[in-house]
Amino acid sequence: MNDHQTWKQVLEIIKQYEYPVVVVSATANTTRKLIEAANLAAENNLEKAHVIAESIKSRHLDLVHRFLHENPHPKKNLIKESCEKKLNEKTGLLNKLLTYTDKVGELTPQMKDAIASIGEQISSYLLAQCGLATDQLTQFVDARKIIKTDDSYGKANPNFGLISQRINSLETIMDGGFTPVIGGFYGEANDGTITTLGFEGSDYSASLIGGALHAQAIEIWTDVSGVYTSDPRYISKAQPIAELSYYDATEMAFFGSKVLHPSTLKPAQERNIPVWVKNMFKPEDAGTKIVRDAHHNRKALAISFKDDIVLLTVSAYETIMGFNFLTKVFNVLESYRLAVDAVNTTEASVTIALKKPEHLNEITRSFIEIGTVEVEKQKGLISIIGCNFSSSKDFISEIFSTIQNVDLDMISFTKEKNILNIAVPKNDLIATAESIHNQLFG
Ligand code: ASP
Ligand code: MG
Repeated sequence: MNDHQTWKQVLEIIKQYEYPVVVVSATANTTRKLIEAANLAAENNLEKAHVIAESIKSRHLDLVHRFLHENPHPKKNLIKESCEKKLNEKTGLLNKLLTYTDKVGELTPQMKDAIASIGEQISSYLLAQCGLATDQLTQFVDARKIIKTDDSYGKANPNFGLISQRINSLETIMDGGFTPVIGGFYGEANDGTITTLGFEGSDYSASLIGGALHAQAIEIWTDVSGVYTSDPRYISKAQPIAELSYYDATEMAFFGSKVLHPSTLKPAQERNIPVWVKNMFKPEDAGTKIVRDAHHNRKALAISFKDDIVLLTVSAYETIMGFNFLTKVFNVLESYRLAVDAVNTTEASVTIALKKPEHLNEITRSFIEIGTVEVEKQKGLISIIGCNFSSSKDFISEIFSTIQNVDLDMISFTKEKNILNIAVPKNDLIATAESIHNQLFG
């Protein structure tokens, strides 16, 4: 489907609702391109950066022209002109930010957010205009007016109090019979600078707004038919999960399930608002419903996996680790701000699985002060989330019998969260994950 056809489809979906509020992300790949341009500018490759800016502009121009061509409207010229004006304005702004970045020779977090948010600044305005062209009463609202945040650029924390104050302006628009269209992903700090909420931040914006409005439901319309039992791009038999609890869905987001921003469910959960994940290209597919109490009788919820994992084993110099051995290990991790994916301990050692960090050598040297260190690279980590041991008395043997021939590097289990982690050589990762998946989900 072309961009303009996708938007037509999106507008058709919006039409089905009585009082919708629309939160839109950037067109596919635009955020990634914007960040690429920003990085190029920081490396003094300004010309290439401008070329990307120009391509983003022409893609959106093309989108609008085709949309208006296929959906002719008496006000067509007016709509076209206002879209072109907005696109010129935003591309002009983008080019200025890129030139600035080239001059200072580095990409500051603040500048990165200002640039990355342009995709949503553009898409929200243009989608609202395309809505008018199909006689829908859509109205653009700048997300900066609603999504107030702190100034943690790249991963800003929303100011819930201010957001719920600002939400009135949306209610006024809806009372007037209009459908607000807001760009997801970005907001504004106290000092008026643009911030972003992090990767997949549009979902989070939608949930923040839905929560503040006490919406009946929050729906995430994406390009897959829900939250899957595993990543369908790699595991051919992965299937959408019909119902999930907030808790399980949050766990899954954290463990690398692709669809949700880890914070997305919080505002919904607080108000007990159901969250749906639906496929905009296959709206007839059931999708996934996320609610407070979801019951399932499957053997597990899902399987996620990560490649590029390193296993670091630190062994105490003495044969038995002292009482503060683990504290020292975790202090090192904290000082490098490293999130650990799985941990295993023995009497005198600890093994940590984590995404291969940038400064691995430096980190290793810090550990040598605590004990002897062994580093194993090129590992993968499989997490079986929501293990349901009562579903089958042979649960464990079912899993391990399917992967008998794989060299297992580490196994850890947390009862609290019912997550079983298995580290394997990176080259065996997908095949192993697939065997376990098919064993558990049939
Ligand atoms: N465009 C942003 C991203 O890719 C936000 C989103 O799509 O949710 O992270
Ligand atoms: Mg998205």
